[in-house]
Amino acid sequence: MITSHVTVSDLYNLANQALRSNVHRFTPPPAWSQSHSADFGEIWFPSIGCAWWENGSCNMCNYGASISPTPEQMIQAVALSLASFDSVPGVLWVSAFDNLDRRDVPVEVRHQIYRLLANSNAHTIISESYPSIVSFNKVKECVELLPGKQFVVEIGVESTNDLLRTWCIHKNFTNDHIQRAIIQTKQAGAEIYINLLVGIPFLTMDESIDDAVSSVKESFEAGADSVVIFPCHIKENTLYYWLYQHGIFQPPSLWVIVETILRSNPKYWSRIKLAWLETKNHPGSSASIKPTIDYENEEEFMSCLMEFNEIGDGEILRPLLNSSSYSKWRSDISLPAKDSTQNRIAQILPRIGIELLDGTWWAEHGEYILQLLMSDWDSQYLSVSTGGGSPLRPGNAA
Ligand code: SF4
Repeated sequence: MITSHVTVSDLYNLANQALRSNVHRFTPPPAWSQSHSADFGEIWFPSIGCAWWENGSCNMCNYGASISPTPEQMIQAVALSLASFDSVPGVLWVSAFDNLDRRDVPVEVRHQIYRLLANSNAHTIISESYPSIVSFNKVKECVELLPGKQFVVEIGVESTNDLLRTWCIHKNFTNDHIQRAIIQTKQAGAEIYINLLVGIPFLTMDESIDDAVSSVKESFEAGADSVVIFPCHIKENTLYYWLYQHGIFQPPSLWVIVETILRSNPKYWSRIKLAWLETKNHPGSSASIKPTIDYENEEEFMSCLMEFNEIGDGEILRPLLNSSSYSKWRSDISLPAKDSTQNRIAQILPRIGIELLDGTWWAEHGEYILQLLMSDWDSQYLSVSTGGGSPLRPGNAA
């Protein structure tokens, strides 16, 4: 047995850093907001950027990082955005990258921003954070700054399978962090939304749908108030884009969303939201390859998904399954995988190590990383459809 102090996280960090080496900090606009409907809008404000992105997480993300704004610019961006709405939507998503991380949003800036929002007509404020950063005290502070409003913490979990999150997505937290974030958020008087990714590289589409279905179930059982499902977009300067360029990964079809919904228990439908069905123009984000629509009438297909988003009834989607395009997509993806998930990952890692990193790194650590992969799988992996090694436990955080 070879031993080493490195993990796959080191490999991915270095690979992503290499892929982002040409990405420069961008000048943020004075304000950025979007209204998606009369009742839902978004305000993004600039910050120093996501610490994880700078370190080389996550394999799919490239929102970039802006030139560091002053505290006044951050607060002003929210004030200008609020003023830009004809009528402030009832539900407002308001975030930098991680609103609860003082490195991203300094505490005093956070306070001032939530004071501004307290005086708006929005009844619900949603902000993003990272599971290992969420704490009772930080959430409680936000709740107290927003009297009479519902505060929601949204966390990008992607999958409730620790192994897949580690080896395929490269997010540095575990189900224990997620569990703690759910419990502490709810104890502090806020709601929690969990973001899940469908169309994860290294997995077959069937495996990814299986994972999404079990992640939806486990998220709700652990106490999530809503689950937000994202189809994978492939953004330039990311490891996913590199896999795409090398013919190893393709964008998913939006059928993965339809199947994830229809295979999830109908009792969850009204609390499932869909996001990023189409590419969103966002400050700093790179060009991306979007999911495909494999249906003869794209407008009809998208309007069914939008309608699901509004009314939360999966039956709206069921007639789509009668189409020949669905049958074709289903039979295309139903071919059995030629190898196991871990063997497929094991075939790609050396290419990442050799082609993206200095070859000496892989020569020194590659064999150990592959041993780690196999032992992680042997010791924790049950099957994708059962949720992997350390499932989220049903929560009791009321
Ligand atoms: S997905 Fe979220 S945590 Fe990961 S790099 Fe992007 S903004 Fe940061």
